Amino acid sequence: MTRLKMKTALVELDGDEMTRIIWQQIKDILILPYVDLKTEYYDLGLQSRDRTDDEITIQAANRIRELGVGVKCATITPNAQRVDEYSLKQAWKSPNATIRSILDGTVFRVPILVDALEPYIRRWKKPITIARHAYGDIYKNTEMAIDGPCRAELCVTMPDGSIKTSLIHQFTGPGVIQGIHNLDSSITTFARTCLQYALDIKQDLWFGTKDTISKTYGQRFKDIFHEVYASEFEVQYARAGITFFYSLIDDIAARIVKSEGGFVWACQNYDGDVMSDLVAAACGSVAMMSSVLVSPDGKYEFEAAHGTVTRHYYRHLKGEKTSTNPVATIIAWTGALKKRAELDDLPKLSRFAQILEEETIQTIESGIMTGDLKELSRLEKPTVVDTETFLKAIAARVDSRL
Ligand code: NAP
Ligand code: MG
Repeated sequence: MTRLKMKTALVELDGDEMTRIIWQQIKDILILPYVDLKTEYYDLGLQSRDRTDDEITIQAANRIRELGVGVKCATITPNAQRVDEYSLKQAWKSPNATIRSILDGTVFRVPILVDALEPYIRRWKKPITIARHAYGDIYKNTEMAIDGPCRAELCVTMPDGSIKTSLIHQFTGPGVIQGIHNLDSSITTFARTCLQYALDIKQDLWFGTKDTISKTYGQRFKDIFHEVYASEFEVQYARAGITFFYSLIDDIAARIVKSEGGFVWACQNYDGDVMSDLVAAACGSVAMMSSVLVSPDGKYEFEAAHGTVTRHYYRHLKGEKTSTNPVATIIAWTGALKKRAELDDLPKLSRFAQILEEETIQTIESGIMTGDLKELSRLEKPTVVDTETFLKAIAARVDSRL
């Protein structure tokens, strides 16, 4: 078989530990035999980031802005223990945070559903994609402990030196306060990216805040979403037969549980942090959650939502064959190849990526799976295999389709 040709290179961001091992296995077993793969390779492994003073991360992100599509392996975000373990110059920033800020992107997390696996919430038939606003709120807060009686105020100094104040609380005893903020520009970009993403995949968009309580802060989010929807999307949504649905966040949360899924849920920063983990857990396994970072000008970075699976890596180093789930990383590759194929008008490459995705799911449906999925399986006797055997089983199915 002749391998499929590509036009533009994918930006390939390698990573750490067990996912780095799986990354190479996926390329060797599922991609290189079929595709004359064209990538620009950036090694975001921790040692390489340390060697380049993290410049490699910035270069990779800038290259995604230029070429349009990247695919990323999970990476270690170093803490004090990692600084010791790898003798690092410093505890480098999270690569994902660096890339997100360079692309000004929104992260969409999409669960990968398989019939053979039972979600904890049985009504969910279709994926619920969570879009988390990645700017501001409590993640850029200022907090203060209050030791005793005092008057706490919000205080804003204007360019002309005048001051606006507003009472937070007249304290009679100890307590705590915090200040948070957001920007109209960031909320607008977030609203536009979510509305566009839902339109692209032809699903409804849901959004909720607590605007009855937060009459200025929450209300601003609500107003901006409605403005962007009315001025830029209403006509297109009607044409696509999809809707933008706004409600209070607690009403949304209750409706989510009763829904069948199949929509995009835009969340304020904290809601997205909590709800993405809740949706992932309710769907079964963190290893079945994919993630895509989308910039407002349509640049894409695909990755798995899980981390580098450190515990499996230490077992791998001892020579054990681990049963680490590669599905989310495979879906990152197929997502990136499909997007590249769409932009470069390569229907054969798009078809290959689609087949690889389908056969990955079908392999699990047929009863062959990694250890993390066994508990969720609806099948009588699932066969638990190591990662390499799982990948080879997928390849055999792909071969029979081509
Ligand atoms: P993790 O790597 O996601 O793993 C947590 C646990 O979840 C694992 O020990 C494993 O459970 C299970 N798991 C996750 N992915 C799996 C897979 N593909 N197959 C089977 N089981 C899987 O999270 P972590 O241990 O908190 O973080 C490890 C490192 O990853 C950290 O250095 C962190 O900075 C980094 N991280 C990176 C990203 C990213 O790059 N996007 C995201 C999160 C974390 P069992 O051990 O019980 O089998
Ligand atoms: Mg979280």
